[in-house]
Amino acid sequence: MKTAIVSGITGQDGAYLAKFLTDKGYKVYGLVRTLSGASTFRLQYLNVLGKVELVECDLQDLSQVIKIILETKPAEIYNLAAQSSVSLSFKQPIGTIQFNINSVVNILEAIRLINPAIRFYQASSSEMFGKIDELPITEESKLHPLSPYAISKVAAHHITINYRESYGLYACCGILFNHESYLRGEHFIVKKALTGALDILAGKREYLEFGNIQVKRDFGYSKSYVEAMWLMLQQDKADDFVICSGRSVALYDVVRYIFNKLGIPESAIRVNDNLFRPTDIEDIYGSSEKAKRLLGWDYHMNFFEVLDLLIEEERANYVP
Ligand code: NAP
Repeated sequence: MKTAIVSGITGQDGAYLAKFLTDKGYKVYGLVRTLSGASTFRLQYLNVLGKVELVECDLQDLSQVIKIILETKPAEIYNLAAQSSVSLSFKQPIGTIQFNINSVVNILEAIRLINPAIRFYQASSSEMFGKIDELPITEESKLHPLSPYAISKVAAHHITINYRESYGLYACCGILFNHESYLRGEHFIVKKALTGALDILAGKREYLEFGNIQVKRDFGYSKSYVEAMWLMLQQDKADDFVICSGRSVALYDVVRYIFNKLGIPESAIRVNDNLFRPTDIEDIYGSSEKAKRLLGWDYHMNFFEVLDLLIEEERANYVP
């Protein structure tokens, strides 16, 4: 039985990856900040909580990371833990940058010291590209981050590549574009639009306020994207891969689709200038041609198909 460590197991991707790995027969250790405070509802929702072992770990403390790797002897480590909100990173730049960088270097250093054969996955992000020269984005596109979050991810990305190139570690970066699910955090736009729309239907609120919804993003489905993370660690050679749908849609069209589908008038969509980010990416989409060719990763979902699934799942679980 293969053993894997998943950091960020309480998050959206962590929960889907834990489900994917346990279904494949892995023994999974999930790192959490504290056992008593861990929000396990996503693992519970996917019926995987009893199948993983949660372990307390402060990823900013190298000695704790070393101890856990020595005790659990993983073949693979998936590093998904991060302060993952771009908006919050503008309010908490230092905390975001410190955690998102230190956690990565600590895990890589522990791997180098204990067992360089451990395979490592780093959750890189399309936000790293920021100011864009050319679309679609590929693994070779220029990095120009526009937020503290993106800066932290660029640093973690380069640290991972450097450990691969300098120490020969099997370390990969998955450059994932936005991906959504029922288990997405509440403050992310698609989840906010879904829950907010149901609140309007239930009479709990009259309208929903957004920041700049003219911008366009390449959205996918988390459940399908975690497979690509696993595929990256099963190859002969470590590499970096863009994982995306290949098409961008305007946030306004996403919100409008949800509201129309639920029969809510578009006048309930409000824009509040105070919610605009100091800097934002206008349009971004990528090409997963390399992942399709080398990993055999196959993804064809149109985001409106994903939205149909999410609307139904949100409705089925909504508590008025
Ligand atoms: P998420 O739902 O926000 O989950 C983040 C995870 O990181 C949670 O388990 C959280 O633990 C943990 N975490 C956050 N701050 C921490 C800290 N200071 N110490 C320890 N743990 C901390 O994120 P996600 O959507 O699953 O994304 C997974 C990874 O992929 C992240 O690194 C994210 O930046 C990256 N990514 C995501 C997307 C996307 O569209 N979803 C796209 C590109 C890259 P708590 O439960 O304790 O808060």
